[in-house]
Amino acid sequence: MAEAPEPAASLAPALLAWFDREGRKDLPWQRPATPYRVWVSEIMLQQTQVAVVIPFFERFMARFPSVADLAAAHLDEVLHLWSGLGYYARARHLHAAARHLVTEHGGELPSEPAALQALPGIGRSTAGAILSLALGQRQAILDGNVKRVLARYYAVPGWPGQAAVAQRLWGLAEACLPARRVGDYNQALMDLGATLCTRRAPACTRCPLARDCLAFAVGSQAAYPAPKPRRERPVRRTRLLAIHGPAGEVLLQRRPPVGVWGGLWSLPECRVDEDPGAWCREHLGRVPLQVEGLALRHHDFSHFRLVIEPLRLAIATLPAAIAEGDGCLWHDLHRPVGVGLAAPIARILAELAEALHIDGHPSIYEEGASS
Ligand code: SF4
Repeated sequence: MAEAPEPAASLAPALLAWFDREGRKDLPWQRPATPYRVWVSEIMLQQTQVAVVIPFFERFMARFPSVADLAAAHLDEVLHLWSGLGYYARARHLHAAARHLVTEHGGELPSEPAALQALPGIGRSTAGAILSLALGQRQAILDGNVKRVLARYYAVPGWPGQAAVAQRLWGLAEACLPARRVGDYNQALMDLGATLCTRRAPACTRCPLARDCLAFAVGSQAAYPAPKPRRERPVRRTRLLAIHGPAGEVLLQRRPPVGVWGGLWSLPECRVDEDPGAWCREHLGRVPLQVEGLALRHHDFSHFRLVIEPLRLAIATLPAAIAEGDGCLWHDLHRPVGVGLAAPIARILAELAEALHIDGHPSIYEEGASS
């Protein structure tokens, strides 16, 4: 491991003393901190705050208490329990990795970093977290919070997404590891980044690292870590068709396994230059009684902004041919959704239910119209 520049010697003792006083020791994944529970928590905590993750984690563990339970589940159910957490590739990877663990590792997580990193969705930092927090191995971590703490403490210039900057931070993370209590130390680093060394308003006067923190010494905390260079996010537009029948049934389609909302259920999509009525006739054999625009919305992905134009299409009767078709289902708006939905789709369904006065009778059908 690389040697840390001064003042690394003071970092671990100060951090561990702070952890003993103020660290979080009763998070659900710490009781008990098995490799499986730490793994699931680490995946959920990517891009997501602890308070948001806790109820998702508890529901997930109640339903899938072991790797074998997760592997045996249908992906739909996994995605359903993930609905609302976002970044659904994480859930798909978790499920795929569980299946691999059952077939190749007897349902156990391997205890070597390279074998862990060979699993879908597990990178170097997640592997380090699992091995240190659950098994006490002397492994470094470098998630977003830790990058921020180390970048400020050592005043490391540059954006951590650049390979050279990431390499420097990894070198520091490894060099700072204490000889003992690495699990507590790593947990403390993550906690410090999440609670005191926050992105916008670091609480330096209460920080156990303030004495030797280079950024604090010169008041330049805001400069570290350097932000990602700005790039204009391209915009894509799409139309989503909320096609509904007289009893409040709305057509859902399963998305392809990869790509936007991969594997989740969504509304049928049509191009913005396509006639939605013609789409309905061609795919369902039904002429819509009414086509109405719902509020335009957008959803930001990491590489583009998706502008969604939802349209509501009322049809008089459901076509029998696709009622049980593969990859399609008629969801009854009176019932809770039992499959994985992306958050914007769930919101459109709620809006549709409201527009249809779903507790009463959709007005369009009271007029006795037929297709
Ligand atoms: S002193 Fe401030 S900037 Fe430095 S590690 Fe602590 S909270 Fe972060």
